[in-house]
Amino acid sequence: MKENILKRIIRLLPDGVFAIDLDGRVLLWNRVMEEITGVKEAEIIGKGNFEYSLPFYGCRRPMPVDYVLNPEISYPEDLSIKGETVEIETFAPKLYDGKGAWIRMSAHPLLDEVCDIIGAVQIVRDITVRKTAEIELRKLFNIIEHSPVGVVVLEFSGEITYCNESFLKYTQLKTAIKKNIFEIFPQISLYEIHNSYLKEIKSGGKNFRLRGIRLEEENGYALFLTDITELRKYEEQIIISHKMESVRRLTSSYAHEIKNMLTGVKGFAQLALQTENTEQAKSYMEKLLSIVDSVSMNIKEILGFGREFGKNPEIIELKDVIKNLSTFLKASLRENIDLILDFEGRPLTVFADKTDIEKIITNLVLNAQDAMPEGGEIRIQAKVKQIPDKFISLTGEKELAKEYICLSVEDTGVGMDEQTREKIFEPFFTTKGEKGSGLGLTTVYHIVQMLNGFIFVESEPGRGTKFEIYIPLKQ
Ligand code: ADP
Ligand code: MG
Repeated sequence: MKENILKRIIRLLPDGVFAIDLDGRVLLWNRVMEEITGVKEAEIIGKGNFEYSLPFYGCRRPMPVDYVLNPEISYPEDLSIKGETVEIETFAPKLYDGKGAWIRMSAHPLLDEVCDIIGAVQIVRDITVRKTAEIELRKLFNIIEHSPVGVVVLEFSGEITYCNESFLKYTQLKTAIKKNIFEIFPQISLYEIHNSYLKEIKSGGKNFRLRGIRLEEENGYALFLTDITELRKYEEQIIISHKMESVRRLTSSYAHEIKNMLTGVKGFAQLALQTENTEQAKSYMEKLLSIVDSVSMNIKEILGFGREFGKNPEIIELKDVIKNLSTFLKASLRENIDLILDFEGRPLTVFADKTDIEKIITNLVLNAQDAMPEGGEIRIQAKVKQIPDKFISLTGEKELAKEYICLSVEDTGVGMDEQTREKIFEPFFTTKGEKGSGLGLTTVYHIVQMLNGFIFVESEPGRGTKFEIYIPLKQ
């Protein structure tokens, strides 16, 4: 009666249980054994010769129960032995109709009332779910461990609790565990890590991009470090090649200009040689000379354009520079041109190269003169001013609050239509034919850029032109 209850309990256990006698014959085979092997109790009871191993492995071979009965037996895998219990975690390929399963088997001796061994019992537990999770986890861990991105796990204090290979490689450390991240990278702060800021740092001659994430469950952070040294080098190369391209374009278009002019020189020289008329020859020679003049003006401007700007920056008072320059300008401007200076009383200091400022003003004033063939007025103004709201789309909001010196040159000349206005800063754009170089405003633009300033132009045909240049005020 008791034995029957026991058998029923064993039958209902959630693990597979089977037992063999000393001859290796199956004594017991419970419900879970039937489920995982597909072999019914009635089919296997009493069978020997490793019959029970067939639904596990598809061949007859020893199982932990056999080792319990005969430790001399050669067992194909490593068993773990704890006292009388023999254990192993393994994959059985034939279980569940050939799908296979990860199982944990433990076998024990089976004793009778007087403690004589009468057989062995084996418990089989399906651990596939746990094992596959473990395998997945190991895979993920391997990916992180060998990832080209440096990974560290930190406590809130910054102490490192885990780091991968790349992190050690990037920091050239042998070990990082227990070290503090803020000692390794003093450039970064807890605030930046906490808020997942993307940060670029230089360390050991390399450029890195860094970003942290909060690990709520770990009470800490994970930090990712990407090596962007190559990327930066590549970007620099692109910038250099862009520069080379603009130099190439500049020189080729310069060469083109000069070639055109020389064709003119040659033409007039030939005409002069061919004519018998001395007066005629003289007029050809005059034309020729005027072309030579504009060639040399072109070359001068190009040399000036190629010159490095901002060579000797210093703190200068704009009013003094303009006043000194205006004496020279007044002497060289035509008589029908009035030059008017209009300054604010307070100091107007900027940090700039004096020659650059002179260059800006000379270019704008000469252009203004060119725009007033019938004569007119050129007004140079300078005062402290904030950038007006209307230019916000060109400067960005940040600039609006700062103090600038606004230097403006205004004329009462012919003005410009929209098409011209759009092109005036382009190298070699000119509406003056052979007389122009198209480099004056290009030069002005470059200088203003270099001074971290802005240049705006307002002009309409017949209504004159106003150039406004904003240069940061140096106090
Ligand atoms: P250049 O004076 O040699 O033509 P710039 O670069 O100095 O070259 O000027 C480019 C063009 O911009 C001029 O040819 C002219 O059409 C236009 N421009 C510049 N300043 C003025 C101005 N004050 N009034 C009208 N047009 C101007
Ligand atoms: Mg000019």
